[in-house]
Parts: sequence; structure tokens; C-alpha cells
Amino acid sequence: MTTRSLLRKGWCPGALRPMQSGDGLILRVRPRVGTLHVSDLQTIAKVAAKFGSGEIDLTNRGNLQLRGLDATSHVQALTVLGESGLIDADEGAEAIRNIMVDPLSGIDPVRADIRSLAQKLEAALLADRAFWELPAKFGWSFSGTATPRVGDRATDIMVASIAPETYAVSLDGASEVSARLASSRVVETVTRLAAVFLERRISDPSIGRMKDAVARSGSATIYAAAGLESEILAAARSDAVAVPPVGSHDHCGQVFAASVGLPFGRIDADQLEALHAAASSAGLDAVRMSPQRVLVFPVNRDAQRDQILNEAERQGLITAPDDPRLFFDVCPGSRGCANATTDTRRDARRIADRVRGHAFLPSIHVSGCEKGCARRGAAALTLVARDGRYDVICNDGPTGAVALAAVSPENIESAVARFIIEHAR
Ligand code: SF4
Repeated sequence: MTTRSLLRKGWCPGALRPMQSGDGLILRVRPRVGTLHVSDLQTIAKVAAKFGSGEIDLTNRGNLQLRGLDATSHVQALTVLGESGLIDADEGAEAIRNIMVDPLSGIDPVRADIRSLAQKLEAALLADRAFWELPAKFGWSFSGTATPRVGDRATDIMVASIAPETYAVSLDGASEVSARLASSRVVETVTRLAAVFLERRISDPSIGRMKDAVARSGSATIYAAAGLESEILAAARSDAVAVPPVGSHDHCGQVFAASVGLPFGRIDADQLEALHAAASSAGLDAVRMSPQRVLVFPVNRDAQRDQILNEAERQGLITAPDDPRLFFDVCPGSRGCANATTDTRRDARRIADRVRGHAFLPSIHVSGCEKGCARRGAAALTLVARDGRYDVICNDGPTGAVALAAVSPENIESAVARFIIEHAR
């Protein structure tokens, strides 16, 4: 790998193609079907501490990013991760496994178990290199409920469970329109839709993602090109903001998961090692990644849940669903990115402390620049740093109309608290 490729901007990082950031190289580990073995947590913690800065981000696509590596330590980290089976043999295979999975599927009795469909799709994508021509960020998701978005994150092609053995496939940009399918047709259908997207992109290279293709020709045309009939299924579905799955989860008195939120999506190597130790001693073997920056541990006994949540609390991680830090999406800011002009994480921490205890908490996106890496799409409040101050945007993304301009970092928590109080009335 050349230095030029390491420094390339706009790179969608992976383990084998890291991205340069303000604090060094970022190495991304993409869990298979959103799940790691508990022992992988220890491997990742050790690699992050030895070869990077020790900081690890859980992304809004459910991937883990190790920060602060250099060209030499990156190669050393790859060796350890490769020996543990945590990385792919080549970049194309790594990039195509862009599949997000409902982290509560298969353990929450009210959700469909969609993991085998996700596994079959992963195998199909790895087997057919034609799909490796898809844009690096092109992705799929599988929801165990009728809500197409997993954790409120849209993907190019979304699969949602709408009835036993029946699924709705929808496209980004038109999630209310779906093709209704039996489970046996899901994998073949979502790969066919990706093939239609690729054909359209070849004839019109300005099409970058599925939502562009939908905007150009409409979703019905794309379904028809894939040989599918589409219908409006809005009544059965909801895009309401999902509450991050944090804390204890049970059904009819039977606990099935303990979930730990990472403050602003970040954990350090010592905290991760402590969670690994707690999970190991509780006899757990798996941990799932939520795109809402939550680690979900499947459990079946109260004592296992308590071991995880007690340790998480000792580590300062998030164990209660009303913790204000859960409502934030925050990019690394000036401590981790040369494009940022504010310390977004420091400012987000101060805002979270200020609004703690409010009954109404909106989604808040704190972005070090207009690129908006931490969240795709609108938030109730988006704070965009420009020249060391924040522009405040309501119900839109970083390029939306500015409601309040050039608020200093010292005053930003008061401005946000005022907004929250006014909108709670
Ligand atoms: S949003 Fe801007 S400042 Fe933040 S990580 Fe992305 S490029 Fe850097």
C-alpha cells in the first residue's frame, strides 16, 4: 500500500485500507453479520493499546475503528488481527461486507431472526465479484421488525420483517415503497436490486448511491427493472427514532440482553478490556454491534446481565436509556481531525451535562465541519463548527438553513438548553 493511498481523502476506511485522520491512521474492523466473539474484544483492546492511541470508535454502521496508528504500527496491527480472523484476505472482500443487522434479532422474542438471511447475503456478495464494483459505502440492512431502518440508520437497500417468513425490501430515498417477499426470495432479490443499481450507475456515473437512482427514475422503475412489483406499506411501518437499546432487556420477565452505550461512540482499550473480562467471567461468548453505538451482550440470566452492567457503570459507560449522551452523534473534532475547528467532544460533554434530567431530549449532531461524518441525514439539532464557532441548524443536516449563527463554544450549551426547554413546552 502506498503512502498516497493511505492519505487519500474521502476514503472509506477498512482494516486493509486505513484512512489518515488528524490523530493518525484509522483502522476499521468490520464484524461479520454485526457480531464478534467476546474474546475478540480483548484482541482489539490489545491491538488498540499497543499499536494505536488506545481509542476505539463504534461507528454509525456498527464497525469498530482503532485510532492513532502509523504506517508501521498499522502493518503490525494487521498481523495480529489477521491471526485472530478479524480481517479479510483482501480489500474488495472487506468492502463488500457492508451489511447492518438488527442487534436484538434472534434474542428478542418479538423480533424475527434475520441473521441467516444476512449471512447468506454476505456469502453471495463475496462469491460474485461483479458486486465488488459497488461504491464502497453502498450497504444493506436487515431489521427484525417492520421498521426498515436499523437503529434509525438508512442503508441503500433495507430488509424488514413484516410477518412470519415475510419481508419487505425497500430502497433508500423511498422507504415507504416496498416489495413484499417470502424469506426464500430475499437474498436473490436484494442482489438483483444491487445489479440494477450498478447498470444505472454505468449509464449515468453521477449516480453515487441508491437514493440518487431513486431520485432520477423513481423506486417503482427500479423495482420493475428487477422484475418486482412494489406497493405502499407505510401503514405497517414506522421510521420513528428508535431509542438506543441500552441497559437490561427482558421479555415476560426473562432477561435476554445487557447493552452498554459508548459515550459519543467511543471506548478506550482499558474499558474494552474490562468489559471483556466481565463478559468472560459471566460465561458469555458473543457481543453484537448496534449502529446506535451500543454493545449488545446476549444473556440468559440476571446475574450475567448484572455483571456486564455493573462493570460498564464502573467504567463510566452508558447503562441507562435516558442518559443524555445517547442522543448525540459527535465526530472526533479538532483532537482527531484536521478539518475541525472546535473540540466537538468536549463541547458535547458540556452540553450533555447541562441537559441531563430533561424529560425531552432531541437528537443532537455535533460536527466539526460541514462534512457531517458522524450522522447521515437530519438531526433535531445540528451544530456545525465554522471558524471556531457553531452554526445551529434545526431539523436538518450540516448544510441546512442556519437558525442561529456563530455561537461560541462557551455559549453553546446555554443555546442548546434554551432550545430544549422551548421545544418541550
Ligand atoms: S465532520 Fe469534518 S471535522 Fe468531523 S470528522 Fe468529518 S471531516 Fe473531520
